[in-house]
Amino acid sequence: MDASRVGANTDVLVVGAGPTGLMLANQLARRGVRARIIDRHAGPALESRALGVQARTLEIYSHLGIAEQALDLGTRADGAVLWAQGRRAARVPLGDIGRDLSPYPFLLVLGQDDNERLLGGALRAQGLTVEWNTELVGLTQDADRVTATLKRPDGTRGDVTVPWLAGCDGARSSVRELSGIAFEGAPYEHVFFVADVQATGSMAPGVLNVYLWRSGFHLFFPMRGTDHWRIVGILPPHLRGRDDLKFEEVIPAVRQEAGGGLSFQSCSWHSTYRIHHRRAARFHDRRCFLLGDAAHIHSPVGGQGMNTGLQDAYNLAWKLALVVSGRAGAALLHSYEDERLPVASHLLKRTDRLFSLVVSDSWLAGLLRTRVMPRVMGLALRTASVQRIFFRTISQTGIRYRTSPLSEALAGLPEAGARAGDRFPWLRLRLQANGPAEDLFGRLEDTRFNLIVVGQAAPAGGVPALGDLLRIHEVPSDAANDRALARVHIPSPSFYLLRPDGHVGLAGTRLDVPAATRYVAERLHLRPTGA
Ligand SMILES: Cc1cc2nc3c(=O)[nH]c(=O)nc-3n(C[C@H](O)[C@H](O)[C@H](O)COP(=O)(O)OP(=O)(O)OC[C@H]3O[C@@H](n4cnc5c(N)ncnc54)[C@H](O)[C@@H]3O)c2cc1C
Repeated sequence: MDASRVGANTDVLVVGAGPTGLMLANQLARRGVRARIIDRHAGPALESRALGVQARTLEIYSHLGIAEQALDLGTRADGAVLWAQGRRAARVPLGDIGRDLSPYPFLLVLGQDDNERLLGGALRAQGLTVEWNTELVGLTQDADRVTATLKRPDGTRGDVTVPWLAGCDGARSSVRELSGIAFEGAPYEHVFFVADVQATGSMAPGVLNVYLWRSGFHLFFPMRGTDHWRIVGILPPHLRGRDDLKFEEVIPAVRQEAGGGLSFQSCSWHSTYRIHHRRAARFHDRRCFLLGDAAHIHSPVGGQGMNTGLQDAYNLAWKLALVVSGRAGAALLHSYEDERLPVASHLLKRTDRLFSLVVSDSWLAGLLRTRVMPRVMGLALRTASVQRIFFRTISQTGIRYRTSPLSEALAGLPEAGARAGDRFPWLRLRLQANGPAEDLFGRLEDTRFNLIVVGQAAPAGGVPALGDLLRIHEVPSDAANDRALARVHIPSPSFYLLRPDGHVGLAGTRLDVPAATRYVAERLHLRPTGA
């Protein structure tokens, strides 16, 4: 065994260079953490697989400097049209609903391969490259390090010892298995098919078309190019288990459900896959973490899978960076599982319920799918509060950590406004008296904490316990700011201490520096600057 590559040069070993591992490596590198990223494959995946990029992911991409490229490459679906038994039943105006909630009020249709290419490019720009053909085959850990056995491109094996290891190695995660962590759940009996086609038919252009039938469903995602669609659906049972399946064999089922007027010009790629709903029993075992598909897998209905992995990485990266740099105690890392495990559990429950409804072939479920669901959705989505809940759920901007040990709300804030644990709302505000209204998210620095101070002077000395980790944004009171703040129930005076990932850590009315100092020490486990 070659034990020469002991982690003197590596703080975190990232196992797996899918979207989750690439996001984690990027976020660590931006924060000065010495990361290594390995993958057992010879190069990036060529299949597009996941293709829905949610608003929250684009907000994160924006800090990473790749949002514009993603927008240029993808197609914006600013809504969905529901078809029931071949008849247009409802339209979900995602763009109109989300206009005040995110700078990206749409679903971006962009293949996983393109997302990985952008993330890989961002990583290279930071001087870090993926070590391909390098597989994790063994893992042990003790109190202060992890020893990983790697199979190198030439077939030899060697040990590396690192302080921290992140398992971003997908549904069959070696990190999870070698750590003996159960992956609880089960497979679904259904098999999905996906196909990239050129087709014409009843589909409304530029939106997601959802065809609901008594016996199933088909989704048509708008792709770049003329009449280019990605179809996702359930494979008819008689075609299951066929390795030599041709797309032509699926066409009759698609046509039956999406209408006779449907005509296919070409199919450039198609695949089938079986899905499971499973969740790892733990996301954190001493010095190892599980993220993305290694931690949770579920039905792709709702386009949440890849996005959830990306947010796992965004949640863990800033915490690991603080611990690696010695600014925070390792206790901070427990909040990763405290926050992300419940998110995965809820997602699994929600997607499982929805999936069961859209695939069940019972008479009652068929009726619910084709008669009740479109009508209820059509009616419910006329109500502003339901619209907002819907957008926040789909776009992942509504994910919150209110019960996290890192969330603390001081007395006096209204229930309806942003609470500790919430993603701070997207606002356009004047940050200087008589200055222009600015996109607040553009001003937040995600490698630091941000203190938003409303209707009161910022403390002259900042929050000393955070030192250079803090940026302060003072929101002066004027008519335009007051209107924008009132819309999201943010009172004046108030203050919001945001974590680097944009979630509110501590919030209150009058800024209380001693309370913030105590919060930083007790909740974030941050050590005083210079200690
Ligand atoms: C055909 C198909 C279609 C899909 N469609 C959708 C969709 O429409 N919407 C959606 O949300 N999701 C979809 N998914 C799921 C989506 O692709 C995953 O959620 C996403 O890939 C998860 O990313 P990840 O980085 O966590 O894991 P992965 O993308 O699986 O990446 C894991 C990486 O780890 C590497 N690896 C594994 N073991 C080791 C090891 N021991 N050592 C080193 N490297 C290792 C692998 O080579 C791989 O590159 C689809 C999946 C498939 C297969």
